[in-house]
Amino acid sequence: MSTLVLLNHCLRLKDNPLLAQASGELCAVVTLEKTQFFGKQYGLHRANLTRLRQQMLLIADLKQQLAKHHIGLVTLFGNSTTELLQLAKRLKATKLLAAEPTAPEEYHLFQQLATQLKLNLNDANSLLANQLRPDLVMLSDRFTSFRKRLEPLLLVSAPLTDFSPSGSQQWLSPETAWTLSESWQQLTDFAPALPQSQKLSGPLYACESASWQRIEHYLWQQKHILHYKETRNGLVGENYASFFSIPLALGSLSVRSLWQQIELFEQQVAANDSTYWLKFELLWREFFRWQMRKYQTAWFSANGIKGPKQFLPPQLNVKMRLRFAQWCQGQTGVPFVDANMRLLNQSGLMSNRGRQNVASYLIHDLGLDWRLGAAYFEQRLLDYDVASNWGNWAYIAGYGNSEARPFNIIKQALSYDANADFVKQLLPEIIASGKAAHRPSSGSILASHSRDWFTELD
Ligand SMILES: Cc1cc2nc3c(=O)[nH]c(=O)nc-3n(C[C@H](O)[C@H](O)[C@H](O)COP(=O)(O)OP(=O)(O)OC[C@H]3O[C@@H](n4cnc5c(N)ncnc54)[C@H](O)[C@@H]3O)c2cc1C
Repeated sequence: MSTLVLLNHCLRLKDNPLLAQASGELCAVVTLEKTQFFGKQYGLHRANLTRLRQQMLLIADLKQQLAKHHIGLVTLFGNSTTELLQLAKRLKATKLLAAEPTAPEEYHLFQQLATQLKLNLNDANSLLANQLRPDLVMLSDRFTSFRKRLEPLLLVSAPLTDFSPSGSQQWLSPETAWTLSESWQQLTDFAPALPQSQKLSGPLYACESASWQRIEHYLWQQKHILHYKETRNGLVGENYASFFSIPLALGSLSVRSLWQQIELFEQQVAANDSTYWLKFELLWREFFRWQMRKYQTAWFSANGIKGPKQFLPPQLNVKMRLRFAQWCQGQTGVPFVDANMRLLNQSGLMSNRGRQNVASYLIHDLGLDWRLGAAYFEQRLLDYDVASNWGNWAYIAGYGNSEARPFNIIKQALSYDANADFVKQLLPEIIASGKAAHRPSSGSILASHSRDWFTELD
């Protein structure tokens, strides 16, 4: 009687309770759900090829790491339920060990699997576990209350040490795993056809070893963490923020390991507002994960968690369609918005400050349905995380854990890109320099509270 160990969202060897906990005859497996990469929402592809390729690279890396321990990784592509149940049948597996779900699609998968397999779920990617695990019914919808209640009690359990297989584990070999991965081989036949431009550059490659090198660099060697609070609103560069979002989203780094590294740094080097603030931001991540668990499909409703569920897709007339296309392409005529959107399209990433501004612009200036923006981010962001993305979009729209938050785009541009270095770097067509470079082109759309700031651009 064997067990499938599903490593989705746990693409790592360090602090991986799924690998450590398993015993008996075991088969390590990862699935890529076809609809999440090739499906569409509101007419948009759910992922672009760069995101697909990144995921495949991380899985290939995990496969190599496991092979060093003579452990095979079965890789499956298609409908995860069908693929996993077929695998279970072939191996006569009756149990499945996996990370606890966050999003509705994952809950749905596990509900279907539970009809035929005995499930054992471990909350492998949360800071709050066991006795601190919040009761979803009582869970506060306000970040500040959530943080204030839990922060004093928070004692992040020590991450598990490096994995090495125990005598009680008999893993399927790499050779056998390969023969069971036919659906994946069809996908890899397709993926090398990606054009050169879709290949990922070094720093974005967020496999487990790269994320630990980043910890070494960002915390221990360069100590950039000591000025995180002052630099975190930066727009472009390599060290203004921590850049852990990709490995955290894909599970090649455990949030507990990162948290403990920050605390070790605080004990051994220095603790200040900035070291605290990085943990504060990890609590935002945690908050959105529990909120996703609490409200589930409501996060994809037009009213978010604030009103009756309404899942009809956004309705767009011709004018709105054009506005949305211009926003996606970074062609709105508002330099601060366009520069951020072009950065997203080029790199698959955008700063938090940029994300807040382009989201606010789409919702409160262009008057478009917030879900369109969230869907476009889902397609593009290399750090796409269902809870953080949809939670943040709904937050800015006023359909999540806050009232609506319209930003004054001109004021923001002047505060965070005073010399217009950022917009000029991304928009070479801008000739004006200094503050004047932030002047929107004539005919561009902006809310009146932003227009009031045009005089500041002279
Ligand atoms: C509209 C919008 C959409 C977003 N979509 C995503 C997404 O799909 N995936 C994602 O990981 N983050 C998302 N964020 C949150 C945030 O912008 C990114 O986590 C951050 O920019 C990633 O860069 P970093 O790792 O250098 O962040 P840092 O500033 O160094 O923060 C460290 C970590 O804290 C967490 N964090 C920081 N800010 C937030 C936040 N506002 N919400 C949740 N977690 C946070 C992330 O895990 C991040 O890696 C979104 C924010 C907005 C406003």
